Amino acid sequence: MKNNIAIELKGVSKKYILHHEKPTLVENVLKRSEREEFWALKDINLVIKKGERVGIIGPNGSGKTTLLEIISGITTPTEGKVKTSGKIVSLIELEAGFHPELTGEENISLNGLLVGMSKEDVKRRLKKIVSFADIGQFIDAPFYTYSQGMMLRLGFSIAMHADPDILLLDEGINGGDVKFQRKSVKKIDQMLNDGKTVLVVSHWLEFLAKYSKKIVWMEGARIVEIGGTNILNKYRTRMLNRRNFK
Ligand code: ADP
Ligand code: MG
Repeated sequence: MKNNIAIELKGVSKKYILHHEKPTLVENVLKRSEREEFWALKDINLVIKKGERVGIIGPNGSGKTTLLEIISGITTPTEGKVKTSGKIVSLIELEAGFHPELTGEENISLNGLLVGMSKEDVKRRLKKIVSFADIGQFIDAPFYTYSQGMMLRLGFSIAMHADPDILLLDEGINGGDVKFQRKSVKKIDQMLNDGKTVLVVSHWLEFLAKYSKKIVWMEGARIVEIGGTNILNKYRTRMLNRRNFK
C-alpha cells in the first residue's frame, strides 16, 4: 500500500448466514433452507487517500454500516482484502462501549481505553470531553439515567478527543440538538483541516455537500458510483423519483 493511502479495499464481500428460528414442517422434511445466505457487501473496491473527506450515501440496508465495520475491523470480510494505515476511531454502535451501571466518568475511562487512550490521556482530556458533551452534573450519575441525546454526545465527544488518524462516523452526526450539531460540525471541520481522514455515513445531504470532497454511493451491497459532491443531486433526484413512482 502506498504511504499516501489511508484505506484500501479490494474485492471485499461480506456474507451473513441468517438462521431461521423455526424451520417450517416442509423445510424440516426436505432438510433445506434452514440457513439462508445474505450478502451485506459484494465486491467492494475502494481507495481512500490520507486526508480525504468522504461521505457515504445510500438507502437503508445498502451496506453502509457493514462497510464501516469492515474498515474499523469490528468485523472481517468473507472475501477480499482490507488495508488501513493509522489509528482508527469509529462511532458506529454507540451502546457497545458503555456500561449502564457505571457513571459517566467511569464510562469515559472504559470507552477511552477501548478507543486507544491511555489512563493518563483520559485523565488529561476528561474535562474537555465532559464539557464538549455538555452533560454537566450527570457525569457522576449511572449511565442508565442518561437520555439518548446525552449518550450520543458523550460517545461523540470521546471519539473526537481520541486523536484518530481515521474517523468513521455512522449517521449520528445529525442526531442531538442543533447546538450540539453545530459544535460537532465545527470539530469535524477542525479535524479535516488537521489532515485527518474522515468518513461519514449520513442522510444529511447538505452537510455532505459542504464537508465532503468524495462521495461513495451504495445500494444493494454494492458501490453504485464514486464521485464528487455533484452526484448528491443525482442521488436526491433518484430517491425522490423512486418514492413518487413506487
Ligand atoms: P445500512 O447501514 O446501509 O443501512 P447495513 O450495513 O446495516 O446497511 O446492512 C446491510 C444489510 O446487511 C441489511 O440487510 C442488514 O439486515 C444485513 N445485516 C447487517 N448486519 C447483519 C448481521 N450481523 N447479521 C445478518 N444480517 C446483517
Ligand atoms: Mg447503517
